[in-house]
Amino acid sequence: MAEIILEDESLRDGLQFEKVIIPIEEKLMLFDLLRSAGVKRIQVGSLVNPKVVPQMADTDMLASRVIGAQGTLATGLVLNAKGLERAVASGLKHITLSASVSDTHSMKNVGKSSQEAINSVFQLIREADEAGIDVRAGAQCVFGCVYEGTVSEDKVVDTLCQMASAGAGELNLADTTGMGNPVQVKRLVYKVMQALPNAVLSLHLHDTRGLGMANMIAGYEAGIRIFDTSAGGLGGCPFVRGAAGNVPTEDAVHLFESMGIATGINLSKLCQVVDKYELLLGRSLPGRMNRVLKTQSLCTV
Ligand SMILES: [Zn+2]
Repeated sequence: MAEIILEDESLRDGLQFEKVIIPIEEKLMLFDLLRSAGVKRIQVGSLVNPKVVPQMADTDMLASRVIGAQGTLATGLVLNAKGLERAVASGLKHITLSASVSDTHSMKNVGKSSQEAINSVFQLIREADEAGIDVRAGAQCVFGCVYEGTVSEDKVVDTLCQMASAGAGELNLADTTGMGNPVQVKRLVYKVMQALPNAVLSLHLHDTRGLGMANMIAGYEAGIRIFDTSAGGLGGCPFVRGAAGNVPTEDAVHLFESMGIATGINLSKLCQVVDKYELLLGRSLPGRMNRVLKTQSLCTV
């Protein structure tokens, strides 16, 4: 029985700005490999403007083909009303809604001020609820912004409280810029837990400054049990210079399993996903454990 949930976001956060467009049949295969490795939640894509993010243009179709996959929850990222409409039409039963707590990042990412984006999330939470879709609502840039520097922790807590009141079943703290450190992660998680003692919280960590795993341990020690990760550590962001992907799923599996914390994920099988991404993209990915297992001849591939 898994004690923590790793939500693999390689198909969304990982692939979203890759120039090589991955065909849907390959994405389906990646989904299946993740699922058979034991990944319980997979974010299959984002329902955003395909002209802006062409890699995500097939998210609706992909979602409709994987919904109901046994043992795995398929979820998608929604940032506006049009995206919610598409999520409903695709049959998705779970989505993440998200807004940045930094004005500058929000303007660059969605063309809205932070408050406008947050207000729109409140509205979308209610609409998703009416459509019978479970919502995870998240705040981006919670540990700092490359444009604005320090972000107000009170604003983060207040935003998450309002998202909870609007009906979000889970709240996500996203270190979009990878600026968080373990002390900060614990402090902010405790503040949110104090304000919302019954809330289900999750962490979305980027490894831009090499603190992804340290922040993950800090989050775990503070009581977080759901983490977003990306197979191979695939990812980055054009609005955050030098950004790295999420914590690699395979490294997170190794981290937790080596500490005796069950993830329900088979590391060797997960390596097949990383191999597939490396083959499709024609380069090696930053995650460590795939290489380590191969070197030690433990991987079954
Ligand atoms: Zn991210």
